[in-house]
Amino acid sequence: MNVIKSVTEMQAFAEGCRKQGKKISFVPTMGYLHQGHACLMQEGRKLGDILIVSIFVNPIQFGPGEDFEKYPRDWDRDAQLCESAGVDVIFAPTAEEMYPQGYQTSITVAHVSRNLCGVTRPTHFQGVATVVAKLFNCTKPHIALFGEKDFQQLVVIQRMVKDLNMDIQIIGVPTVREQDGLAMSSRNTYLSADERVSALSLSRGLKQARELFHHGERSARVLIGTVREIIEKEQGTAVDYIKICDMETLQDIDTIAGPAVMALAIKIGKARLIDNVVLKRE
Ligand code: AMP
Repeated sequence: MNVIKSVTEMQAFAEGCRKQGKKISFVPTMGYLHQGHACLMQEGRKLGDILIVSIFVNPIQFGPGEDFEKYPRDWDRDAQLCESAGVDVIFAPTAEEMYPQGYQTSITVAHVSRNLCGVTRPTHFQGVATVVAKLFNCTKPHIALFGEKDFQQLVVIQRMVKDLNMDIQIIGVPTVREQDGLAMSSRNTYLSADERVSALSLSRGLKQARELFHHGERSARVLIGTVREIIEKEQGTAVDYIKICDMETLQDIDTIAGPAVMALAIKIGKARLIDNVVLKRE
């Protein structure tokens, strides 16, 4: 496994692979890797000849007062996980390498960035779209894999790729959960033992909503109310949002008629956790 830190070296390597007719799979991450990331890598390994993973805590997707400085980092453990997942190259640039003096260009995916996390994190998806576009230009992938856990991020990237005619296939990978239902996240490390118990209410609430939906409930107000009650019963939870949205436009829905996503963001202690479930007839 190679570790590349320079943009030009990464581009030269990717170009070389392409010239040899190899298919490049790419998994962008911020590190502190877990089984959710490993699942994306496994999928990427299957779909391409060369697997590139980036590890980069992207400063421009964090707002003021958010956890950029405190975001967990563990290079040795990450490198080990990548090695055992069969990664060919870790691309790990510094912030200076990605955003040198004078940097001033960004990508805004206007409408789908606005709702859900965009309400309290208004510059977040601009930071995400910009870094992902840059990482695509560095790693030149044919295929890129993203987790459905960050549902809005996946929609933003799909929209960007379509709108900017990027010749890259975007694959969404289902959320990987702990045995007790908690969606895996690097930020789970912020939770104390008690907070972790409270955090189980997120997946429990979403599961309950999905069951009600399958029993015929179509009112967003009723489904959201049920989930809110389950989450707010737990110690130390503060709801940022719980919403039901159209899967493509991410606009709020009152009555579910087609496939929809129920998404939420909840603060528990120092952590802000997100999770979602797709509501559609099976
Ligand atoms: P992050 O390192 O948190 O930026 O995540 C990197 C990629 O891994 C993103 O595409 C995430 O959606 C994905 N990811 C994070 N957690 C999970 C999970 N529990 N299951 C599946 N994918 C995940």
